[in-house]
Amino acid sequence: MPLLPHDSAALAALRTPSAAAPWRVLISACQAGWGCGVDGTHYGLAGAVPWLHTLPTIRLLPFCPEDVGLGTPRTMPDLHRGDGHDCLAGRARVLDPAGADLTAGMVAGAEAMAAFAMAEGAALAVLTDMSAACGTQCQSEGCRFDTPRRFRRGVGVAAARLLQLGLPLVSQRDFATLDRLRARAEPGFVPDPEKRDHHEHPWFVGYFGVAATET
Ligand code: SF4
Repeated sequence: MPLLPHDSAALAALRTPSAAAPWRVLISACQAGWGCGVDGTHYGLAGAVPWLHTLPTIRLLPFCPEDVGLGTPRTMPDLHRGDGHDCLAGRARVLDPAGADLTAGMVAGAEAMAAFAMAEGAALAVLTDMSAACGTQCQSEGCRFDTPRRFRRGVGVAAARLLQLGLPLVSQRDFATLDRLRARAEPGFVPDPEKRDHHEHPWFVGYFGVAATET
């Protein structure tokens, strides 16, 4: 399962990009500034990983699976009783806060994102963590407006579908892995050894009780 923060071999296996042959990077469209969030905003995520947008060795491919599958604006989708893999296997559902079942639209959006990634020749994807579609390290378990809010380690529905195709994934919160990717894409860039990935963050370790190395 090529989650780049957990699989250094997958990162090493990526070819070195150049301006003539850049990495084609699938990216959650909210990070590209599209107003595709549930409320029609980009959640303040535009340019969350700034260097992706400026390096000549990167060609971004924005896509929003929820916009394609459910439309914008929409009610908030959250996974119940499992992660994206469970949803694709029929063991988990995606519901909105009123209990409406959004599973079919979420799966349709995931399939469309996977088809887009393959058609465009994406080499990897930078996705938005915590999303029920794009999350790569964890998501809300059940409705995110419940008190207390609960979380589950795992991937979103679209992320799961991309992993099934073997596409390497990383989130905008995996700062250590993003630095290592940048060093591959920008000659002379030196990764900051103090940076951590999301699963190494004190909140993550404290909530899930482990310094997770695999998902
Ligand atoms: S589904 Fe993905 S791309 Fe769309 S708004 Fe949510 S995190 Fe961003």
